[in-house]
Amino acid sequence: MSLSEDFRLPVACPACGSHLMRVSRVRNPDDRVHCASCQRFVCLYHEAQTVLQKGPGSDSEALIEAAVNRGP
Ligand SMILES: [Zn+2]
Repeated sequence: MSLSEDFRLPVACPACGSHLMRVSRVRNPDDRVHCASCQRFVCLYHEAQTVLQKGPGSDSEALIEAAVNRGP
């Protein structure tokens, strides 16, 4: 059984452009979300949930950019 699950994020990974992200099956708000393709840290799960609710757009892109620059 895999300990992680993939989901699609409206904002692409800033490193490789993939929309497929990976998070633990538990999906705690503070769990780290990594790109499923290049493994880069992208954001925390609660931030991913915000982006999923907002959908694609400049607000979501800014949120992801800030999380990537901040780091895990
Ligand atoms: Zn990537």
